Amino acid sequence: MQEKLTLMIPGPTPVPETVLKALGKHPIGHRSKEFQTLVRHTTEQLKWLHQTNGDVLAITGSGTAAMEAGIINTLSRGDKVLCGDNGKFGERWVKVAKAYGLDVEILKAKWGTPLNPEDFQKALQEDKNKQIKAVILTHSETSTGVINDLQTISKHVLAHGKALTIADCVTSLGACNVPMDEWGLDVVASGSQKGYMVPPGLSFVAMSPRAWNAQKQSDLPKFYLDLASYLKTANKDSNPFTPAVNLYFALEEALNMMQKEGLDSIFARHARHRAATQAGMKAIGLPLFADESHGSPAITAVAPRNIDAEELRKIVKEKYDILLAGGQDHLKGKVFRIGHLGFVSDRDVLTAVASIEATLQSLNLLKNEMGSGIAAAAKILSSKDS
Ligand SMILES: *Cc1c(COP(=O)(O)O)cnc(C)c1O
Repeated sequence: MQEKLTLMIPGPTPVPETVLKALGKHPIGHRSKEFQTLVRHTTEQLKWLHQTNGDVLAITGSGTAAMEAGIINTLSRGDKVLCGDNGKFGERWVKVAKAYGLDVEILKAKWGTPLNPEDFQKALQEDKNKQIKAVILTHSETSTGVINDLQTISKHVLAHGKALTIADCVTSLGACNVPMDEWGLDVVASGSQKGYMVPPGLSFVAMSPRAWNAQKQSDLPKFYLDLASYLKTANKDSNPFTPAVNLYFALEEALNMMQKEGLDSIFARHARHRAATQAGMKAIGLPLFADESHGSPAITAVAPRNIDAEELRKIVKEKYDILLAGGQDHLKGKVFRIGHLGFVSDRDVLTAVASIEATLQSLNLLKNEMGSGIAAAAKILSSKDS
């Protein structure tokens, strides 16, 4: 039979049929009235998603483009920044900051554990001369399935009074609550292939008024990612370069879907899928890599003890057509990750849990009673208050 592949990786995520159809339209001119209308509408929708009155700009590029834009538009050569690092994407922030010659102080936590907000509080309180220009961190650390306490950390940044909060919300936006204005976030980066349910190719950078103030002083080199030009054209419902026009069609459709479902329902669905995935894995004797109390709403990392995670992933892919993500760097072979981000239904979660359970059974590694994983997941998905 032809492959019937289900993506359960943290991006690209599954794309709904209506969004795929929107992509298939003929491109329109990016300087046309029609495209301006599209930009105006999607910009409003993006502000809704970010819960902000600030600007949300779309860049043709992957999520990392939005991260880099956030840094180079708000900071200057030699600026001191605090970078949270508890996984692959925290490391990426450090690399981008260092590439631009920033003075980076790294606040680390072990992979699989969350960043400690008190570390940030302490460093910020000790900074009497207000040398720290930004606190840079990842909200949902996709490599380990950990959600960091962005809300508390941004409170500490606000108390400092000078530093900006620059956050990678690539796998938290559209999965859990990220009220940009309420939390006082200054720069929020995200990408289309994650919670947006759109193929890869667009990224988004949201900027607070404080971030725009910092932008005026910023002297880091930039051209394609110079947000001043994006803002200027955004004010005319346009884009400085040729944007990925068809991805805008898809974006509008996907955001229509999200608005119809409503933010609270979207967040509740992700929380339910996280809980069902966690319960399912525990019930079949597979330990979670990160403590469930700080599990990401987008992805669950699992650390099986007596099987190579890559072997399990291979069987699940070949036999059940479900693509799970592997472990990155030193976690390769030790961890597999189940993505439950974006266009994911209860059925997808049940099927993933059942397929992993059946794979263990086929390897004679299932210690618990057959069906215990699916029962635990179904119990959560069928409960009235989930
Ligand atoms: C996917 C992802 C990114 C962006 O990666 P790109 O490949 O550049 O789109 C950034 N941060 C996190 C946490 C991610 O999961």
